[in-house]
Amino acid sequence: MRIKVLGCSGAEFPGYSHPGFLLDEEILFDAGSLTNVLDEKSQLKIKNIFITHAHLDHIKGIPFFADNIIVKNKMHRVGIISIPPVLRTIKKNLFNSDIWPDFTIIPDPENSILNFLPVKHGKTLRLNSYSVTPIKVNHTVPAVGYLVEDKRERRFFYSGDTGPTDLTWKSIGDIQIHCLIIEVSFPNSMREIAINTGHLTAKLMKDELKKICKLPQKIYITHPKPQYSKLIKRELKLLKLRNLKMLKDREIITV
Ligand SMILES: [Zn+2]
Ligand SMILES: [Zn+2]
Repeated sequence: MRIKVLGCSGAEFPGYSHPGFLLDEEILFDAGSLTNVLDEKSQLKIKNIFITHAHLDHIKGIPFFADNIIVKNKMHRVGIISIPPVLRTIKKNLFNSDIWPDFTIIPDPENSILNFLPVKHGKTLRLNSYSVTPIKVNHTVPAVGYLVEDKRERRFFYSGDTGPTDLTWKSIGDIQIHCLIIEVSFPNSMREIAINTGHLTAKLMKDELKKICKLPQKIYITHPKPQYSKLIKRELKLLKLRNLKMLKDREIITV
């Protein structure tokens, strides 16, 4: 599997984009970055977007993507996939004809640009040659991570935003994750804030790794606050984990 990191930052500044992970050019995980990174041709290859939760930094690419579609490629259709409360929040607060046109009924309700497709915790969805399973995580709003497996049984798990959790790792059980993309948003000194806002520090992340039955072969860190990224990088280094790396915007990782 080939994943292009469109963005992997926990805040937006020039050179730092919000999360978006593009699998094989067609399936996007979170849409914090999309139209700000991909040209028109690449945008129109995207057919499905899995959303971890409804926070703006994970969804803000969707409205501009829908707008680009209606302006020039009216026939393109996109599935927006998540658990029902996430879809409800996006529909009610974003595609409500006030903040943005309701692309779930444009050009007409039977054939809309965006199709909201609900999925359930723990229920695997087959898409192209992949199996994708939403797994509950611990955030301040309803949120899931996604476990993705290809035909060769290679797997990655993308946590989205999460604080400390036992349930997530119990749900994954003893299967081998080859690549873990997990968040670390704050430096160790901001532990309280991290816990209260459903996020991790480097130390908290290390505690999470201890709960995973089979240690992932590769661990990639996403969602650091750019204001603290140098400090977070130093703190991650101190964990002395050989297979751990902080992600960079626009890099490509293989699973
Ligand atoms: Zn969030
Ligand atoms: Zn976030």
